[in-house]
Amino acid sequence: MKSIKDIVSSGRPGISFEVFPPKRDASLDPVKDAVRQLALERPEFISVTYGAAGGDSSINTGAIADYVQKECSVPALAHLTCVMATRDGIAAEAQRMRELGILNVLALRGDLPPQEGSVPCGHFKHAVELVGFLKEQFPAFCIGGACYPEGHPECEHLSADIAFLKAKVDAGLDFLTTQMFFDNNILYAYLAKIRSAGIKVPVVAGIMPVTNAKQIARICRLSGTLLPPRFRAIVDRFGENPEAMLEAGIAHATEQIVDLFANGVDNVHVYTMNKPDVGRRIMANLRSILS
Ligand code: FAD
Repeated sequence: MKSIKDIVSSGRPGISFEVFPPKRDASLDPVKDAVRQLALERPEFISVTYGAAGGDSSINTGAIADYVQKECSVPALAHLTCVMATRDGIAAEAQRMRELGILNVLALRGDLPPQEGSVPCGHFKHAVELVGFLKEQFPAFCIGGACYPEGHPECEHLSADIAFLKAKVDAGLDFLTTQMFFDNNILYAYLAKIRSAGIKVPVVAGIMPVTNAKQIARICRLSGTLLPPRFRAIVDRFGENPEAMLEAGIAHATEQIVDLFANGVDNVHVYTMNKPDVGRRIMANLRSILS
């Protein structure tokens, strides 16, 4: 299997997808079915999320990533969060992933638990520590990290967020994937800033096709993502009509992706979230651009 570092350095436009694993005791079959359909679209890789703070579905991240690679012949990117984990727990999970033949890991802190009084185990306070640990203990991994074009919601100033990002990259990141954004100008300004801060690794742009009006307010609130007036108008006009909203969401995401490719951003990660139809429709819109 190829490393994502090599894939995203190829210099040609490419699309990757994302899925989330089922909860601990749920059947793997519906997610495998979604993965199989998404794989038919020949994405560059498929990433598999890890339950928030090592939650209930994390147990299945490795199994789904394994399925992506072995049954669908697509490189997998397994997410791994550390905020509630011990060093031994992370070592065991990383070892399991290596034994499954998983080469690519997205090293994340994870969101802090919401309940007051519930404190992280404390072994890893920030993702930078996880990156350093993986680099030292599992040097064969190709390691990615998250970045935030509008700044991480916990950080007051973008410049401080970028300084922390630089330290995270220097700890051993091979590439970055961005949080979703709906206005490409925000990404272009951010890329200029991180490049001038000395961050040189490839950046994969994260695009969320919003196909459901109810999702959007929650997503924007949690991630601190700005909903530009143009997109707000789409939600206002078509939000009550699921079919129209799906079509408009796909059209908006496609337009964003075409603009990114046209402006030299070659790698786009589509937050498909187990919806093969969304991946299929976006790929159909990009067929000639990608071929
Ligand atoms: P960090 O890089 O540790 O940053 C978190 C905050 O701490 C930032 O505000 C940063 O500025 C600050 N910071 C960093 N270093 C320091 C320091 N040394 N001192 C003080 N402050 C510091 N969550 C999941 O639970 N599962 C997933 O699968 C998942 N996948 C994701 C994929 C992508 C592409 C993205 C963008 C996010 C994903 N998340 C996922 C959400 C992510 O876990 C949260 O956004 C989390 O709050 C931050 O994770 P991080 O790795 O960016 O953290």
